[in-house]
Amino acid sequence: MKLSRFAVLVGVLLWAPAVLARADIVEDIASLVPADPHSYAETMTLLRQLNQSERIRAVSLGNTSKGRTIALAVVRDPRVSYRNTRKLLIIARQHGNEPAGTEAVLALLRHLARTQGRAELGLLKRVTILAIPMANPDGASAMCRRNGAGVDLNRDWVALSQPETQAIERVYERWLPDAVMDLHELPSASKKASYQENFVETIGTAATLPASLSRTTGEVSARISAWMGHYGIPLHCYYDTPDDDLRLCHRHFGLYHQVPSYLFESKTGRGRSLRDRAEYHILGMLVVANHLAYHEVAPKPLPLPVTPTVTAPAPAPPPPAKPTKVRMLEPVADEAREGRALLRAEVTPGEDFAYLTFELNGAVVALTNQAPYQYSMEISRCQEGAQELAVRCYDASGRCIAYDTRAVRLDNAGLVMGE
Ligand SMILES: [Zn+2]
Repeated sequence: MKLSRFAVLVGVLLWAPAVLARADIVEDIASLVPADPHSYAETMTLLRQLNQSERIRAVSLGNTSKGRTIALAVVRDPRVSYRNTRKLLIIARQHGNEPAGTEAVLALLRHLARTQGRAELGLLKRVTILAIPMANPDGASAMCRRNGAGVDLNRDWVALSQPETQAIERVYERWLPDAVMDLHELPSASKKASYQENFVETIGTAATLPASLSRTTGEVSARISAWMGHYGIPLHCYYDTPDDDLRLCHRHFGLYHQVPSYLFESKTGRGRSLRDRAEYHILGMLVVANHLAYHEVAPKPLPLPVTPTVTAPAPAPPPPAKPTKVRMLEPVADEAREGRALLRAEVTPGEDFAYLTFELNGAVVALTNQAPYQYSMEISRCQEGAQELAVRCYDASGRCIAYDTRAVRLDNAGLVMGE
């Protein structure tokens, strides 16, 4: 942990999740990630060793078509009834050739098995972690995307035709987790615009979705983005709508079961080691777990009426020396992908800037902490007629510090701008 990063972290402790308050915890856990991934056999051996910890129970959920074990590790404080905790389901490596999720989960399990850190022990009093470190053992053993029957597991969540997806669905039904994470990696060579950098995909806002679900996923994705920024990790967030493809795991849990659910994709290539890619997932797991542990998810009760008291107005805080400025640029057609418009913002980041969001008619469609500040939006997402676009910049505590709006008309024939 560099001193400058520590200083930034101290600055945001007012809103920081408690487990992240120790500035080096993410690097402590990431230091346990090996240079090369654990094999299936090594993973099973490690889980058997971790089973010796009073905090961890590793169990078999059944076998794959090739007879390998699908394992679940339950991490909790044995002195606290799990019924009194929130539950976080973490699914890693549905795609066998994406090892960073497995290594992130194994490192987290090893750390939680033996740590005496107050923050981690406090977390385990409030959250039970249900971790599936290797959801596709046959694919992992062959270092290929699909499972032993040749099925892409992350397109099997409507059919639920495979022993792996069926086993994970049983975990859901047995434990009813409060949040689900699905850990993946992005190929370095992909040309797809949204695949150029680490991203999180989660549930957006729609009239047919519970407002509390959208509020939670919006709040958590903003926290994830702010924390990634503090660790110097670039990140975009994208938001699903109810008509998106439900065959994907995070949408099955988020849109079908309506549980806050997060797809984490870490970008490979460009000198990013297995440890770097796992660190992204480790930080993500800590932020989501902390939100479960320490933040209100259900709607807050109405405040009781109070008699107003007259007090002297508090002095206004001094404005930042260099305030953040933002301007929404005119959208342009996305040259790389038909039927898409590139939403763009020009940002002069001040010292308080953490991330920004793009909004379409009041609903957040993307969030990013990374320049260039742009988002390739499907025009079919728009209704007919005039659209209200907005860009909002936030500080690390989630306070809006600058915004701009623009009225436009977008249609499939092209972009029609208005003022
Ligand atoms: Zn994947």
